[in-house]
Amino acid sequence: MTAMIIDGKEVAKTIRERLTQEVKMIIDRGVTPGLVVVLVGNNPASESYVRGKIKACGEVGIRSEVIRMEATVSEAELLQTIERLNQDPEVDGILVQLPLPAHISEKAVIDTIHPDKDVDGFHPVSVGNMVIGNETFLPCTPHGIIELIKSTGTDITGKHAVVIGRSNIVGKPVALLLLQENATVTICHSRTASLAEITRQADILVAAIGKPQVIGKEHVKPGAIVIDVGVNRIETGKLVGDCKFDELVDIASYITPVPGGVGPMTITMLLQNTVRSAASRIAR
Ligand code: NAP
Repeated sequence: MTAMIIDGKEVAKTIRERLTQEVKMIIDRGVTPGLVVVLVGNNPASESYVRGKIKACGEVGIRSEVIRMEATVSEAELLQTIERLNQDPEVDGILVQLPLPAHISEKAVIDTIHPDKDVDGFHPVSVGNMVIGNETFLPCTPHGIIELIKSTGTDITGKHAVVIGRSNIVGKPVALLLLQENATVTICHSRTASLAEITRQADILVAAIGKPQVIGKEHVKPGAIVIDVGVNRIETGKLVGDCKFDELVDIASYITPVPGGVGPMTITMLLQNTVRSAASRIAR
């Protein structure tokens, strides 16, 4: 079997076209969706992520702004900036680019963003609502993964989904969202015994490990859908996923490439959350 490649760029493009139309309708009703990204310091990876987000905002018509702060900024000053943005009626979404310098508490920063503007979906209120199944801002990467699986036309109901990774930003939330889609979900991590034995049972395998090419053919059941979340730069400078793509492409039914799989969806879901937030501003 040769797997179909799930083209994240294509799926993202379709959603972004819909969002562009939604933004036009929102603007017609007097509201311009606005996202503010706060960037502390000048970590090159963060700079690049922020550039990508700002460019994507422009493409769908979202007004965006980057607030740059020195790496030496105090936590208090950063929190004050977030408080000001919380109060600003023109701001629909606030995103503080992580990671932050060691002297600033990520928890304090996330807790300070008002849940109504928490377009990253990291605030405990957003997470709690997601767990309960209330409508809320869903975290972008996990939500993007669900959209990618659905783009294959697969009904997730009743499937055995195995998630490798239990981080707060990918593993745990994607497991919850799969559960809400009526999958039977198993979560694996670095202490899981007999990993391959478990992952070989998966109809849907999500690898969110953050280590290059750990998952090979011994881990995958023929015909499984494989979503590779990992983004790892190897010695040659090449970006690779957590999976051995070349091996799995002969076994899986569908597989995401790295890059060009999950990555484009993460930003798209951020745009979607910002548009949803602006739409709720009209309702207020
Ligand atoms: P993380 O916080 O480092 O979590 C990694 C998880 O993998 C942990 O739960 C860890 O288990 C588990 N793990 C590590 N080694 C393992 C092994 N050998 N076998 C089984 N489980 C193992 O990473 P993350 O933030 O979730 O990100 C995961 C990857 O996704 C990274 O490569 C990151 O760059 C990428 N990512 C991509 C996007 C995107 O938009 N494309 C977005 C977010 C993240 P323990 O909990 O036991 O330590």
